[in-house]
Amino acid sequence: MLRHLLLKLRATGPVTVAEYMREALTNPGEGYYTRRGGIGESGDFVTSPEISQVFGELIGIWYISEWIAAGKPKAFQLVEMGPGRGTLTDDILRVAETSSLSSKENSGQGAQTVHTEVSPKLSEIQAQMLTGGKVQSNPEDKSVYMKGISKTGIPIFWYRDIQDVPLGYSFYLAHEFFDALPIHKFQRTEKGWREVLVDIDPEVPDQLRFVLSPSSTPATQNFIQPEETRNHLEVCPEAGVIIQNLACRIEKGGGAALVADYGHDGTKTDTFRGFRNHKLHDVLSAPGTADLTADVDFSYLRKMTQGRTATLGPIKQREFLKNMGIDLRLQVLLQNSCDTATREQLLHSYDMLMNPKKMGDCFSFFALLPHHRFARPDKKHKPESESPLPPVAGFSELLLK
Ligand code: SAH
Repeated sequence: MLRHLLLKLRATGPVTVAEYMREALTNPGEGYYTRRGGIGESGDFVTSPEISQVFGELIGIWYISEWIAAGKPKAFQLVEMGPGRGTLTDDILRVAETSSLSSKENSGQGAQTVHTEVSPKLSEIQAQMLTGGKVQSNPEDKSVYMKGISKTGIPIFWYRDIQDVPLGYSFYLAHEFFDALPIHKFQRTEKGWREVLVDIDPEVPDQLRFVLSPSSTPATQNFIQPEETRNHLEVCPEAGVIIQNLACRIEKGGGAALVADYGHDGTKTDTFRGFRNHKLHDVLSAPGTADLTADVDFSYLRKMTQGRTATLGPIKQREFLKNMGIDLRLQVLLQNSCDTATREQLLHSYDMLMNPKKMGDCFSFFALLPHHRFARPDKKHKPESESPLPPVAGFSELLLK
């Protein structure tokens, strides 16, 4: 990867951080996700669904409660973007099976699962996890490149891009997905905004370094708001395009999107980091061998919905999970487990997810919901006969009936 980048930089000059990040993570031959995808205990990072099944179960309950609030539509799809090892979908489908969400009586053939994934390596792992490996590959098809049936009997399709996924009532899920998308970085200078670029270090052979663009770039002109007050800025236009797409889909077809990620609400500046073997790693060294991430700017995502949907959050992970009833779920699991090792494991994973110093505070939840979720269309005509709309679980306390 480094050789490939050095050749490119020598031929064309410095590249944007977004281009560097795209190459390092998803280059078809040597990209980090394409080739390795180091998620899990022995990988470079562990994500919440890999820590505890409770995480996925509570997210499953979130979708069920929104599905009930929408009047239990018969046909729907669960669309997960960048599903990693597929653990989260697996946990959600298990909860869905025990509820009426995906039961045969309720939906017949109405439910399906969709993954958007660029990594052949990770889609193979997802297929193994969800279908036991029984999938049909379709590399010729431009959009659906693989399909199968989940262990619970639900059809599952793999796409590369959200734009190709069929429209219709859908639940979208993006867990630690947006932080892996390429960002542009900008620095305010006396001469105005300049873009941070990646170039070859002239002093050290085969080493990369950051430089500032000598003048403004297309990105400085298009992605910075005139009212911006920060001096350093990261913008992820790809995340903006995807959110715009999700907002249009939800406006037209209904459903909900849940985004969970490291992030801030338009306040942080330099958050571009590399991780390798669970340790911080210089983002410019050995590209393709480390995970690169940047915090998600939820204020930017909110802006990019362009008012097509309502948005909720960001709310911290520990508050979201508490509202979803994690304490009750933990109590039940503790009561049902008789050995000390399992109980300790349950308490340890609860601490990882909820402790403000661990994942409790640095991860946030953010949702897109159709405007009509918050206002009854016929309210004007007979307001007195209406029962209040149920609050959105997670963002306020889940009402257990
Ligand atoms: N959601 C999982 C994995 C997070 S890692 C979890 O929380 O455990 C990021 C995931 O996004 C990986 O599956 C990676 O292959 C995928 N990915 C990265 N860039 C992508 C892109 N541009 N389009 C689709 N998937 C992408």
